[in-house]
Amino acid sequence: MNSRYDTSGFWFKGNTHIHSQESDGGKTFLELADLYASAGYDFLFRTDHWVASDTKSDKTSYPLLWIDGIELDGHDRTGTYLHVVCLGKVENMVRENGFEESLRTAKEQGVITILAHPFWLGNSLDDFLRWEFDGVEIYNHVCHWVNGKSNGMVHWDAALMTHPETLALAVDDAHLKPEHPGWNGGWVMVNAPECSPDSILEAIRKGNFYSSCGPEIFSIVLDGNNLQVETSPVQFARLVGPHYMGLRLGSFEGDPIEKLSFQIPPQWKYCYLEIEDNRGRRAWTNSFF
Ligand SMILES: [Zn+2]
Ligand SMILES: [Zn+2]
Repeated sequence: MNSRYDTSGFWFKGNTHIHSQESDGGKTFLELADLYASAGYDFLFRTDHWVASDTKSDKTSYPLLWIDGIELDGHDRTGTYLHVVCLGKVENMVRENGFEESLRTAKEQGVITILAHPFWLGNSLDDFLRWEFDGVEIYNHVCHWVNGKSNGMVHWDAALMTHPETLALAVDDAHLKPEHPGWNGGWVMVNAPECSPDSILEAIRKGNFYSSCGPEIFSIVLDGNNLQVETSPVQFARLVGPHYMGLRLGSFEGDPIEKLSFQIPPQWKYCYLEIEDNRGRRAWTNSFF
């Protein structure tokens, strides 16, 4: 098994999907930065609909780091409607160029592409696999609020069968308007030497981060096939493998777990760790393969 984790750097809390008044969000960049910094965030991506952000030209001083991005949406050639979050700086993004052309242009500029809220849009597994996105949102907080369709785990698992490096992200997709009030419900914790756009983007691309709706992970060490992880107190830990396969620790009544280890069966093509606290809140590593 490969380890994509080096947790010897610093952990930085961030959100990769958020909307401001530049599109359909309710708050300004400064209001968002103040709010999220108050919850311990170190960085946020600007992912307004069809707005290629340009943080370099913004001279305002913020209490956290803003990183460039954009959310594209539209129909692909099969007629499927998709939303795609692109992480990284892009230029020349206009809706009039169409969805496919814009996505291609964004990919050429080296962005990380994430399929947003596939369950909420009713995207099939084929819709997702056809595009070979770098990752998928496995938890989307605003969709959880809207109608409970927050989950992208099935899409992620399907991709791992053929592309075991596919990234998984928990996100807010915060709009912060009266009809969409949620924030700080799903986030990523990135391990990087410093909190700069290049370091954060590189760590995300490598998969050196985990996603959470609550629990924390402090260290991840993979020695051969032996996985050792330190966490905040959790009730359950599951090593999730292909199909029906899995290993598990914890019990409904038992003491919380803070240190755990699993021996990954060598025949597994991929696996990831899911932990769950006593409130049912979960966190997930990226895949090992
Ligand atoms: Zn969307
Ligand atoms: Zn969005």
